[in-house]
Amino acid sequence: MRLSRYFLPVLKETPAEAQIASHRLMLRAGMIKQQSAGIYSWLPLGFKVLKNIERIVHEEQQRAGHIPLLMPTLQSADLWRESGRYDAYGPEMLRIRDRHDRDMLFGPTNEEMITDIFRSYVKSYKDLPLTLYHIQWKFRDEVRPRFGVMRGREFLMKDGYNFDLTKEDALHAYNRHLVSYLRTYERMGLQAIPMRADSGPIGGDDTHEFLVLADTGESEVFYDSAVTDISLGKRDIDYDDVAQCQAVLEEFTSLYARTDETHDEAVFNQIPEERRRVARGIEVGQIFYFGTKYSEPMGATVQGPDGKQTPVHMGSHGIGVSRLLGAIIEASHDDKGIIWPEGVTPFHVGIVNLRQGDAEVDAACDALYKSFTALGLEPLYDDTDERAGGKFASMDLIGLPWRITVGPRGLKNGVVELTSRRTGESEEMTPEDAVARIAAIYADH
Ligand code: ATP
Ligand code: MG
Repeated sequence: MRLSRYFLPVLKETPAEAQIASHRLMLRAGMIKQQSAGIYSWLPLGFKVLKNIERIVHEEQQRAGHIPLLMPTLQSADLWRESGRYDAYGPEMLRIRDRHDRDMLFGPTNEEMITDIFRSYVKSYKDLPLTLYHIQWKFRDEVRPRFGVMRGREFLMKDGYNFDLTKEDALHAYNRHLVSYLRTYERMGLQAIPMRADSGPIGGDDTHEFLVLADTGESEVFYDSAVTDISLGKRDIDYDDVAQCQAVLEEFTSLYARTDETHDEAVFNQIPEERRRVARGIEVGQIFYFGTKYSEPMGATVQGPDGKQTPVHMGSHGIGVSRLLGAIIEASHDDKGIIWPEGVTPFHVGIVNLRQGDAEVDAACDALYKSFTALGLEPLYDDTDERAGGKFASMDLIGLPWRITVGPRGLKNGVVELTSRRTGESEEMTPEDAVARIAAIYADH
């Protein structure tokens, strides 16, 4: 993309309404525009990152064997009356009436609807296990929408639902989700710690939340610092392997890590003092096992191997797709702007032309642009007439992890400058070497 043709409404001033870094930076980098409290338009740069996050979520869900579908945002109140949640949900639910006076609602979550889909088609245990998921907009009329996309009213969520014959099978689905979530967050450059949590309005026995540590997080968390040393890394996971998924769950959850709702001071105090941590975290996902809570009242049963009808065991599993943008920025920025992890960056590399209109410099920039495009990488080329300082400031603000600077002086010696946004370090090399270096970096992502 050539910046002169793009739509990137960067703001010079810090918007007064933004209290935390990610909100401030998303507004300044022209990623979002607020339309009403907690409701945002996703401007091109923000939309690109949102799509990258969605893509990673889809890839990791499907790697785990989960099947995508798409359910509507508007739901009929009748379904929610069946589960008893229509009245129980409270003022967070946006209730709507259509022209025929039918009660509708904008879905805050989809347990009822997915259970309805399941019971309409699945009749036998032979069709299990089954996990269906979608990535769809949700609406929750939050009392206090704030921090930009972090706590919106309209927000994008991945929500998945597993259907299993037995509790044991459903617990494997739970473990499988835990593992796939760890992998999802790691690919986004995030460490999200699974913490035992409270089940809230979804209900159920078993639940973990995934928290990204950040001073601006809304949850208070208590953990053993040793949990931050564990990562999945490149290990090979067989999602059908019950023992392997169980072992990963144990590895990641046996050390103490809890939110304030489930915190137990006595147990916490048994951790060696130098490893005890009290901090804040951003909830980027949650998994639940809730057994037959919805399948029983809604009649989602299958015929078991013994010929008897039995309600299926279920769980639901959510990832805050739009909230993740805020969480990633909270975890990765400095005073100049955002620092995108390679896995989600809106453009792979920035090209800065230090002397727009100089035939040689323009030609070198065009050649770099073509080379990247031919490799399937997306450069953002600042081909505007802005002075160098302004170009660097914008690139730093929008946070592309790599920048190539092209100027007449370097070109005399046959070199351009490659700069890492994260370390600020620059290195001179030929344009060909710069392309090869960037290509090698992204070969892993
Ligand atoms: P919270 O405790 O933050 O209100 P929740 O526990 O009610 O969230 P879940 O039902 O677990 O939310 O939804 C799954 C995920 O969706 C959450 O882990 C979070 O990342 C995201 N999410 C929930 N509410 C919002 C919101 N208002 N804005 C943006 N993302 C949200
Ligand atoms: Mg939650």
